[in-house]
Amino acid sequence: MNFKLESKAIAAAVKKLKFRTQAFIDGKFVKAQSGKTFATENPATGQPLAQISECEARDVDHAVQAARKAFTSGVWSKMKPADRKKILLKFADLLETHAGELALLDTLEAGKPIGDCATMDIPDTILCIRWHAEAIDKIYQHVAPTGPENLALILREPVGVVGCVVPWNFPAQMVAWKIGPALATGNSVVLKPAELTSLSALRMAELAADAGVPAGVFNVVPGFGETAGQAIGRHMDVDMVAFTGSTEVGRYFLKYSAESNLKRIILECGGKSPQLVFADAPDLDNVASNAVSAAFWNMGENCSCGSRLIVHKQVKDELVSKIAKLTKTWKVGDPLDPQNRLGSLIEKPHLEKVLGYIAAGQSAGAKLVMGGRRILEKSGGYYVEPTIFDNVTNQMKIAREEIFGPVLSVISFSTEAEAVAIANDTDYGLAASLYTGDLNAAHRVARAIRAGTVSVNCFSEGDITTPFGGFKQSGFGGRDKSIWAHEQYTEQKTIWMQLA
Ligand code: NAP
Ligand code: MG
Repeated sequence: MNFKLESKAIAAAVKKLKFRTQAFIDGKFVKAQSGKTFATENPATGQPLAQISECEARDVDHAVQAARKAFTSGVWSKMKPADRKKILLKFADLLETHAGELALLDTLEAGKPIGDCATMDIPDTILCIRWHAEAIDKIYQHVAPTGPENLALILREPVGVVGCVVPWNFPAQMVAWKIGPALATGNSVVLKPAELTSLSALRMAELAADAGVPAGVFNVVPGFGETAGQAIGRHMDVDMVAFTGSTEVGRYFLKYSAESNLKRIILECGGKSPQLVFADAPDLDNVASNAVSAAFWNMGENCSCGSRLIVHKQVKDELVSKIAKLTKTWKVGDPLDPQNRLGSLIEKPHLEKVLGYIAAGQSAGAKLVMGGRRILEKSGGYYVEPTIFDNVTNQMKIAREEIFGPVLSVISFSTEAEAVAIANDTDYGLAASLYTGDLNAAHRVARAIRAGTVSVNCFSEGDITTPFGGFKQSGFGGRDKSIWAHEQYTEQKTIWMQLA
């Protein structure tokens, strides 16, 4: 980090911030063609931060044309992998030089605690770009086992123009998860950030250009989902869309594709992830500490949020009281104050949605153990207390729907079969955690759970080396992170040769 994580240094760094507010197309910042802008606000204060260019279909079209021109020219797509690597490593270095600035942009625009942005989001963003860059000149392709009269090459080639549509909960990091593998494999990108968080993406585009990513290869078109997002989804010259966001909007992209050019669609969507705690879980303090992170880290605005704690009835009361005690130490407040573990929710309508779920939990008869209220209202921000419900059944709305807020539902069980059935009784399948001292049970249950990532005796999404994505309605068509992410950004080609 380029400043100390203490209030004075943070305040000084905030004063120095400059916002990039225009679209980044064909290597330069440009206004939306309509001249229109929209306000982005700081959810910790409810005050506007900046006016952002509002891109619509014609701006998307401009960006797609620039991306196609760059792709066809080969300036990036046909560059030697070792040379692309050099530029992307320089990009990662520039991100590192400006890490503090990027962390502040995400904190200011998304209400995320500066401590998280500075020590997790931005370091992971940099690592992601670097990791995919380093991989590309070490990947070999295939020769098929044909007879001697033929030579068959099985190659992977960049898909072409890739649309990326991303959410607001990890603004910079979600950009990196998409553009890391997409650019490394030689594609051109048109990215639409969430309307609530455009600033870090725009700065990243500028830094990529500074590092030598050629004009047209990485374009950012801020704007609304219904206009700019839909225009990407329906564009006849976009070859694929990599989307992260809600399951509801993910469905639209499948429809856009079906109604346009059958572009490839990769979806990373929502979750309702279970945390299973067996009676022999080795260390309940460790479980409590992981469970609190799983439920409340990033204010629960996390796709892999462990929002359902499914716990053996023998240890339930002890664990819930440990979790409640620990949760009290997670301070809620100004995300620029590095002491705070929870910042504000992203926007007022979302706060109201989360409070609506809390009310639904209460009226369904779940027992409110702690939290449940909006707080710090005078700040103008959208803060809600971390909230724990006990005596939840898996049929209640709070156990079925993705709340995307700091709300934990505790459900108890008696047998392993029951625990697995509850865990799998969901439309989602993104992630799960389980806690047990029995190695056999750990293997058995990890395999029985229908989810893309299962962590054992911890809450984790793995790291950059492991693929991430969902089963069922949590995902479609591919995985983010790891070398498998390269597959979704490449098409397989067979070249079959007749030898004389
Ligand atoms: P969202 O409402 O689905 O939005 C995601 C993106 O889609 C935004 O850029 C949004 O633009 C755009 N969009 C919205 N409506 C659209 C439409 N009709 N056509 C085309 N694009 C449209 O999701 P969110 O609220 O930003 O993010 C939270 C969701 O993301 C949660 O469900 C969470 O689980 C999921 N998520 C999943 C992962 C994962 O890896 N699986 C990671 C992080 C988050 P606007 O901003 O203008 O609405
Ligand atoms: Mg929206």
